[in-house]
Amino acid sequence: METSRDFVYQKFCEYYRDPTTVIPAPLSPSQREFAYLLFKERFMVRHKRFEGIRPLRSVLSETVPSDVYHSCAYYENPDFDMDKKGWLGADLVFDIDADHIPTNCDKIHDEFTCVKCGFSGKGLIPEVCPACEATKFETKTWPCELCIKSARDETAKLIDMLENDFGFSLDELHVFFSGHRGYHVHVEDEAVRSLDAMGRKEIVDYVTGLGLTILDKDAREKPKKKSGAKRFNLHNFGWNKRLKLGMQNFLVTATKEDLKNIGIKNNAVLKNKETIIKRCINEGRWESINDVSVQTWLKLAEHVRELQSANIDTVVTTDVHRLIRMNGTLHGKTGLKKVEFPAKNLQDFNPFIGAVAFKKGAAKVLVSDAPEFKMGGETLGPYKNQTVELPVAAAVMLICKGRAKVAN
Ligand SMILES: [Zn+2]
Ligand SMILES: [Zn+2]
Repeated sequence: METSRDFVYQKFCEYYRDPTTVIPAPLSPSQREFAYLLFKERFMVRHKRFEGIRPLRSVLSETVPSDVYHSCAYYENPDFDMDKKGWLGADLVFDIDADHIPTNCDKIHDEFTCVKCGFSGKGLIPEVCPACEATKFETKTWPCELCIKSARDETAKLIDMLENDFGFSLDELHVFFSGHRGYHVHVEDEAVRSLDAMGRKEIVDYVTGLGLTILDKDAREKPKKKSGAKRFNLHNFGWNKRLKLGMQNFLVTATKEDLKNIGIKNNAVLKNKETIIKRCINEGRWESINDVSVQTWLKLAEHVRELQSANIDTVVTTDVHRLIRMNGTLHGKTGLKKVEFPAKNLQDFNPFIGAVAFKKGAAKVLVSDAPEFKMGGETLGPYKNQTVELPVAAAVMLICKGRAKVAN
């Protein structure tokens, strides 16, 4: 085990000591708090201040941490204690991580064990232990392509909202692969910098569709005044527009089973699919189908709200002191790097090529268990209790994931 950790440490050393390694400076570096996790001691060094990227790089090449972070916030004195830092503002950041997104495959490759009571299970890691309510887990996860794809789909929805509903241009959105199995979106615009936690919570609620009211105020307060489906109405902006598009997309392929799953047993929806899309959704004549009640529209809208909302880690966005992984640095769980790419390239960016830090050499490892995976354009695995020679990037990832050790 020691030799395997040493091997990874050695590779991290080479990365941080290589003068050709690109580590872009964040905006206003001297106003940021920097932090890093020591490789061997597993201790987080915090409240560090650097005047620029050069002195930071020299510390990174000396200490070679496993993970490097900086604050989303700007401070007068980033190296002071928390209450004396003098908060000046913060970037608006979003974290989309497969850890928080249910997928069909998480039961196959993810496991968790409660640190306190030992309760263990497969699949999505719970927020609290079902047995003892503790919140710390040992986890075994995998940066699976399908899970990364589902994180990418959530990121696409977020970017669409930030662009079309909030009015940011794509150039103002900094989009990153996180280095593990998710994405980060940073907005550094002056317009968001001074937002407090409440203001950020409002944005989170919008993005996740929380508290979305579909019936107008009049219809909610005086339910009897407007009859039937006349109470249901959607306009052409923001979420209302998203609901309409989503309803249309859902209905085009919806089966009887799909409708039943969302609580709609009425056959009228299925029978009048085309008419509903044309008359109700496109022309706004929601009352024109006799057998479809306002409750049915609401059920449909609620389901579509879930489909259209972006599954972000809400805590990250509302925390105005949050530390976020630094662009260009390595992720201790994979050896991949956090890397920025243009927002418009989201669908084309391949993390197993674009985020690969170790591009040379090979290493012999004993793999206990790994599914088929891709790295640097090669398809590798599956492996089960076998010794193989792998490209360094693949060997590092398997060791970091606890699935391999250096073979003698
Ligand atoms: Zn427990
Ligand atoms: Zn998966």
